[in-house]
Amino acid sequence: MKKNQLQSSYANEPLDKLLQDLKTSKNGLSQIEADNRKNKYGPNTIHRNQQKSQLKAFLKNFASLMAMLLWVSGLIAILTGSIELGIAIWLVNIINGLFSFWQEHKAQKATDSLMAMLPTYTRVFRNGKIEQLNSKEIVPGDVFQLQAGNSVPADARLLEATSIQVDQSALTGETVPESKTVKFKNGEGKFSESNIVYAGTTVGSGDGKAVVLATGMNTEFGKIASLTQKQNTTASPLQQELNRLTKQISLIAIAVGLVFFVAAILFVHHPIAQSFVFALGMIVAFIPEGLLPTVTLSLAQAVQRMAKKHALVKDLNSVETLGETSVICSDKTGTLTQNQMTVNHIWLMGNVYTVTGQGYINNGQLKQENKAVNYHDDPALIQLLRVSTFNNDTTVELSSEKKPKILGTPTEAALVIMAQKAGFDTSKELKQMPRVKELPFDSDRKRMTTIHQTKDKLFVAVKGSLDGLLQQCTKIQINGDIRPITADDIKKINQANKNYATKGLRSLAITYKTIDFKDKSQIDNLNADNTENDLIFLGLTVMADPPRPEIYDAVKKCHDASIKIIMVTGDSEITAKSVAVKIGITSDKARVVTGTELDQMNSKDLKQALQGEVIFARVAPEQKYKIVSTLQEMGQIVASTGDGVNDAPALKKANIGVAMGVTGTDVAKDAANMILTDDNFASIVAAIEEGRTVYSNIQKFLLYIFNSNVPEAIPSALFLLSRGLIPLPLTVLQILAVDLGTDMLPALGLGSEQPEPGIMNQKPRAHNSHLLNKHLILTAFAWYGAIASLVSTIAYFFVNYQNGWPMKDLMSSGIVYNRATTMTLAAIIFCQIAAALNCQTKYTSVFKLGIFNNHRVWAGIVFEVILLAILVYTPGIQEVFNTAPLQINDWIFLVIVPIPIFLIEELRKLIARRKYNH
Ligand code: ADP
Ligand code: MG
Repeated sequence: MKKNQLQSSYANEPLDKLLQDLKTSKNGLSQIEADNRKNKYGPNTIHRNQQKSQLKAFLKNFASLMAMLLWVSGLIAILTGSIELGIAIWLVNIINGLFSFWQEHKAQKATDSLMAMLPTYTRVFRNGKIEQLNSKEIVPGDVFQLQAGNSVPADARLLEATSIQVDQSALTGETVPESKTVKFKNGEGKFSESNIVYAGTTVGSGDGKAVVLATGMNTEFGKIASLTQKQNTTASPLQQELNRLTKQISLIAIAVGLVFFVAAILFVHHPIAQSFVFALGMIVAFIPEGLLPTVTLSLAQAVQRMAKKHALVKDLNSVETLGETSVICSDKTGTLTQNQMTVNHIWLMGNVYTVTGQGYINNGQLKQENKAVNYHDDPALIQLLRVSTFNNDTTVELSSEKKPKILGTPTEAALVIMAQKAGFDTSKELKQMPRVKELPFDSDRKRMTTIHQTKDKLFVAVKGSLDGLLQQCTKIQINGDIRPITADDIKKINQANKNYATKGLRSLAITYKTIDFKDKSQIDNLNADNTENDLIFLGLTVMADPPRPEIYDAVKKCHDASIKIIMVTGDSEITAKSVAVKIGITSDKARVVTGTELDQMNSKDLKQALQGEVIFARVAPEQKYKIVSTLQEMGQIVASTGDGVNDAPALKKANIGVAMGVTGTDVAKDAANMILTDDNFASIVAAIEEGRTVYSNIQKFLLYIFNSNVPEAIPSALFLLSRGLIPLPLTVLQILAVDLGTDMLPALGLGSEQPEPGIMNQKPRAHNSHLLNKHLILTAFAWYGAIASLVSTIAYFFVNYQNGWPMKDLMSSGIVYNRATTMTLAAIIFCQIAAALNCQTKYTSVFKLGIFNNHRVWAGIVFEVILLAILVYTPGIQEVFNTAPLQINDWIFLVIVPIPIFLIEELRKLIARRKYNH
């Protein structure tokens, strides 16, 4: 075998020769050979080289506006002789840069690891048997199946193909689907060979079989990935807002700095260089430097928490959008319900059977209602079992464990299990009537047909939704008799169907016909239009699909949070409504709009319907687009679920496209922003809660960071306004120590708060609301900030008082002055300790949350105190930071400080709760 490389000759080489070259056959590889090849070629994965961008990301942290200011001022300090100060400023700058980089790196790693949780699966032939494998197991020479909705796992040549259309836009940018066939035809341009499918593309329709030519980085997609190494780095709206915010505040900071600079020269007669460094302290105090990395990290951490709750978010943008979500359009089957179908009734015109037995198939039984009759007596039943299992692409493997292994859909598995319970031997029957053609299920026809051949007959098996199918039936079979269907029959059938639907049960109509077999071309010409008609009605298989147990709570949570739920389902109106009412999504007054009605509605009618309680039933996935876009026109932020190829447009259109991780196609997963690894509606709600939490967490640490700005600025203002009479209570390096040192970790801790109780009792956040709103600014500056300023000023004069104030001023002794500035610094830090606790909630009492609830905040507080101790007690550092050891009185003062601040804030929250009824 040649290299693991796609060779241009592979496309037009004779198939036999190609298979020989690849040392494989149409039936694929043996497991042993596949293992060998995997050792040789490695896993089938694409990895991007990120080294270059990492270096850039690293350097970026040292080139921000603030970093630049610090570099320059350090330099000025050194040039004017304050060498220690200059070096200290630089060091602080470097430490801050490293910290930011560490945060970003951690965020990146958090999101990277999620991608590994998103495996794609492919049906591969190993040892001649079909197996569902993780696509990274695929090796050159493997033969795999292609199905509509799958992504192509590797570069491969088609062995079989029925009307395959692929979307190659990931490679070519061309969104028009391209047809692929077994026959070689060299199209125009790259990737146009008609018989080659490429990794990274998706199958839009059709199915087939293909042999793998190249895997992993050797695929064309891999080569492109290694060339571009492009990372999607568009800033999210939140990041954009933060960028804007940072710039605005920086401008204000620089203006303030300028005023201080001039004042220092005019009022206090400082030399220019010293005034500059002094003003710089103000600027740095105000610039919210650590903001962006902290936000990114808390978004990434939220993404990780969501992943634990079965919601994989593909980009950080979606986290914030989730918090704004006001409407969820949800599928029914599998999302609201368990998608664990069991047939519990078989309804025939003559007889009704109940099917019992759970879990263990062998213990199951089929019973005739009211009568102890052997089912073998009923030819209609046998015919129904035949159609149900012939018209079926699902296999159910009985293992020794309790749960059978299902390869296919739950609906079809339920039919297989039903037949097994009756002892129907499908494989024996299929040998006599092999399948020669199929017209696959699609959500528009809502039915599926298979055609089977005996010597001189074709057996056409059709199953699907009753509404469409009953019209195609001209006859009915009762026991062994077949006769024309009457209006009375139709009435009875519809009535039975309605009775079951009212109980929330799903029924599938089972029909068939036989036609004379002429020749093979006759089979080729059969299609849905000319085949699915003139059918014989057999009966209904009635399935239960119980709601997921956690759905009731999730629905209630949505309603409390003023999030509207709209069920959009392919199932019947009555079943849909029955389920919706049962799980509390709507009342029984809700309007049910069918797909046909939806098509005829104009935008005004639809908007009106969407205003009230509404359910959409019997709709095709394509129609979701209209629902989603109309809701958006109404100003809603829409999350919409989907699993099939045809759901992709709606998933893309929705603000949050939600794909099903288990039953979803790769196409749907590609189009979505979020993937549910358990297909569960409740996981969407959990993700919304996280989305809301993150936003409020970011506000919490904004509040925290901003409120230390005021006590950092006030001392300098005192110094200036008193024309130097009051010696500077807080030096530039002390400001830096708080701003770039002690404040960092508690802020980070606040970014990872748990959801505040009551966060799901609020309305969704308005789309255009700002992070930094009036409330937040007032709380930070006029409340927390004012208190902290007061306390730190008192602390400063406390030292003075202990040392003979007003007779002696502070400057008379260097030690006393240093002790006084140290007290200002320490008081600010201790106020921030209270603030770290206070900022944890907006209205809820922190006691209710548990004071020690957030370990990270406490770790931050401990870190803060240790850092303070180092600054105050380490010789050498003492000189640089103007600190001196504190006395026992000072410490008592400091330790008491946070308590009243904390209690006052608790009181404010209590009053606020009373007022707003939280
Ligand atoms: P849902 O919104 O409940 O997921 P689907 O679009 O999956 O609805 O299915 C719509 C209807 O199509 C079902 O109510 C059923 O009548 C029919 N149907 C579903 N699966 C099959 C199948 N495998 N074969 C034939 N008919 C099917
Ligand atoms: Mg479905």
